Amino acid sequence: MKKFIIVCGGVVSSLGKGIATASLGKLLESRGYKITIQKIDPYINIDPGTMSPYQHGEVYVTADGAETDLDIGHYERFTHAKFTKKNNFTTGQVYQSVISKERRGEYLGKTVQVVPHITDEIKKRMHAVAEDNDVVLIEIGGTIGDIESLPFIEAARQLKYDIGRENILYILLTLVPYIRVAGEIKTKPTQRSVKELQSLGIRPDILLCRTEKALDDDIKDKISLFCNVEKEAVITALDAKNIYDVPLKLHKEGIDEVVVKKLKLKDRKPFEMSEWQQLVERMNNPIADVRIALVGKYMGLKESYKSLVEAIRHAAANLGAKAELIWIEAEDIDKRETIKELRSVHGIIIPGGFGTRGIEGKIKTAEFARKNMTPMLGICLGMQCAVIEFARNVLEHKNANSTEFDPETDYPIIDLATNWTDKDGNEVRRSLTDDKGGTMRLGQYLCKIKQGTAASIAYVGINPIYERHRHRYEFETKKAVELEKNGLKVSGVSGDGSLVEIVELSKHPFYVGCQFHPELQSSLEKPHPLFVSFIRKSLLNKNVVRP
Ligand code: GLN
Repeated sequence: MKKFIIVCGGVVSSLGKGIATASLGKLLESRGYKITIQKIDPYINIDPGTMSPYQHGEVYVTADGAETDLDIGHYERFTHAKFTKKNNFTTGQVYQSVISKERRGEYLGKTVQVVPHITDEIKKRMHAVAEDNDVVLIEIGGTIGDIESLPFIEAARQLKYDIGRENILYILLTLVPYIRVAGEIKTKPTQRSVKELQSLGIRPDILLCRTEKALDDDIKDKISLFCNVEKEAVITALDAKNIYDVPLKLHKEGIDEVVVKKLKLKDRKPFEMSEWQQLVERMNNPIADVRIALVGKYMGLKESYKSLVEAIRHAAANLGAKAELIWIEAEDIDKRETIKELRSVHGIIIPGGFGTRGIEGKIKTAEFARKNMTPMLGICLGMQCAVIEFARNVLEHKNANSTEFDPETDYPIIDLATNWTDKDGNEVRRSLTDDKGGTMRLGQYLCKIKQGTAASIAYVGINPIYERHRHRYEFETKKAVELEKNGLKVSGVSGDGSLVEIVELSKHPFYVGCQFHPELQSSLEKPHPLFVSFIRKSLLNKNVVRP
């Protein structure tokens, strides 16, 4: 029988449910169980694809091209499980399915209701990720007591009768605040949210208590008594400076032992996380540092660059270094302080983005990196800006008096790809974020690398290479001829050779732009090769004397 673990949150949001769930998944994997994790989002949007980064943070893209919640990114970075569109669903998707079924007459004249029709659809989706896994972890978004998440909690309650009480475990992540002025730890908010969960028919088996001060025995006794949970199942989730420490800390608290015991899981293999532990130690004790500028436009909300920041950390940690991030607003590029900041960094990243705001700033940043020999990694829009910069400042300038290059016909270099269909040859996705109404290339695609390039050095030993995309505009190889002649090398192309996937400059320490999002496939244990190369060159750049 498959085992299910439901994780929900009490008291307040932002307690780190995603990291906690990913950490538990990691711990179970480290004991030999095959796991998967599903995230349920209570909002009505079908997916976060059309939401502003300010609303939702980063949109994480899975290999099969689903636009998902950023927690899926945490799950992928922590575990070895494979994630697809089934691993994340929303209220919107559930209602959309139920309503279409109703229109097709599949409910045979019945009144369609939240219970059982909506809850049945939710349970169907929960079972859909079970496949050949031993344990399915399900994180329910929102906080207990929210109107929006009620049907999900109800479905999770019903699940225990469908699969048997011994096959399901409920975990409540709750806040145990420390009141500094009184010098006391308070358990009342936890008591209240346990009551609230119980009133919905779920008795939590494990309490994961988020706290800034370790819970002593007396507090654990009290929580156990008042919340009706065994003492060993009251787990301290102490604030951690480094999220990659969380699984190790939770293991010390014995969470995996409690889970294995309660779910009666048969032992697979002894717990093993030494490699992870070494990497975390290396991360916590860097021997070098490097300053990296991130020139973007959602600087007010760092959550929009979650995977990117993690990918930089992974690469730096694997090289024994720590990257200090300098956040630069692309629109401020002409300010004197900004230029000064750019001069002070050892490497520059120009990330992806949507819309025209900030584009000119990104183009100027690419020019700065090209001229100052600063290692640069341009991602998606970042690569497109590097190409535009080169066409504008190198090609156009050089060809000003030439008849061979005609900007009118050769432009736009970056444009919507013609007749785009997805890799199955159907389901062209329309984007709502741009009134040009282009189509998005989403998910994993083959990338062919040219030998003798910086890209081929970075990717050495990796073949075939698949990278994830999320963009509408393309740089077609047929438009690259003139640029190549003038020194902007195409070092990676799509499977059919029609689209440029990577560009680079040869007379530069590291100047690489990629059309895909390498940050979506980086983890602490397997940092992405482009980030590793970029950080390595940035570390070398530390000796450069600047004017
Ligand atoms: N806006 C650009 C496009 O649609 C870049 C997208 C991105 O950076 N993800 O192609």
